[in-house]
Amino acid sequence: MSIEIRNIKKNFGQFSALNDVSLDVPSGELVALLGPSGCGKTTLLRIIAGLETPDSGNILFHGNDATERQVQEREVGFVFQHYALFRHMTVFENVAFGLRVRPKQTRPSDAEIKRRVHELLELVQLDWLADRYPPQLSGGQRQRIALARALAVEPKVLLLDEPFGALDAKVRKELRRWLRRLHDELHITSIFVTHDQEEALEVADRVVVINRGKIEQIGTPQEVYDHPVSPFVYQFLGNVNQFDSHIHQGSAQVAGVDLKLDAHEDTQNTPALAFVRPHDIEIYNAKKSDRVGFEAIVRYVNAVGPLVKVELERHDHTELIEAELTQERFRELKLTPAQHVHVYP
Ligand code: ATP
Repeated sequence: MSIEIRNIKKNFGQFSALNDVSLDVPSGELVALLGPSGCGKTTLLRIIAGLETPDSGNILFHGNDATERQVQEREVGFVFQHYALFRHMTVFENVAFGLRVRPKQTRPSDAEIKRRVHELLELVQLDWLADRYPPQLSGGQRQRIALARALAVEPKVLLLDEPFGALDAKVRKELRRWLRRLHDELHITSIFVTHDQEEALEVADRVVVINRGKIEQIGTPQEVYDHPVSPFVYQFLGNVNQFDSHIHQGSAQVAGVDLKLDAHEDTQNTPALAFVRPHDIEIYNAKKSDRVGFEAIVRYVNAVGPLVKVELERHDHTELIEAELTQERFRELKLTPAQHVHVYP
């Protein structure tokens, strides 16, 4: 089911939590709402769910206005950060719950419920836990059961609010890959709230970057990462170095280095800020004759993992520059703290 979010505004007292938010989610897409704490992600998700009413604007499900519809009429399934499983019910009964509480006319038979619950437990690969109680499960298992429970009522839309937020890093990583595979199998239109950029970039078809109640950018993970439209998006989507520069004839000049710009206003020598990702910083032991660059001192090296992280101090600058090198390049340069190097952004 497609979702259209049109010009949603929501204030809490004087505070504007959402300010004219519009977004189209085509049927079957997995979208991540990404932004810092307090930017309005959860409020937007709750408005889509029908748990919160917008001050103005509309929500359309499959082209029909659903703004006034009650939660139970919206055919949405939820998964929240904190497992909302019933502690006193077995895993089986938790997943069956949404089917059992249906009005008699639409309630499946016991045999049908049994079949459906086992099918869902197999889907989340936890059928062997059917008779356990939630306190006997790990955090990751509970979230998978919470998802099975949300799916049991065959929702047309799945809303996930930081579903893996309370889990440790390793389990989070496993579960987000698992969620992506599950989505590829089921194709349910899904909206996923996270403040973790890595999670959004890895899982979503499209990422919606939100800042202070407004959408900053909507795009595929590649688009928002490679072509951020604002300094906020640039900084929020990963480490970045900031340099004072001048824009001149289609290039930003940073410490004498010309960085070609994708788009620019044809201005002469306009001061600007340039953002450069750590993996785009080049380091040499000797000065290059054909490029200006600048000198810096190595302050920190972390060679664990496939990319070596290096921090560099530039003369007269307090902000350290972050660079990332391959292990191979790192060995060529033989970098150690206090070493003098030449840097080309
Ligand atoms: P987090 O990642 O911390 O959950 P979020 O982006 O999901 O943040 P929201 O929960 O949507 O943010 O909240 C957006 C803003 O609206 C916050 O500043 C919050 O304090 C405020 N807010 C949310 N709900 C209410 C409420 N019921 N009453 C007053 N203010 C609220």
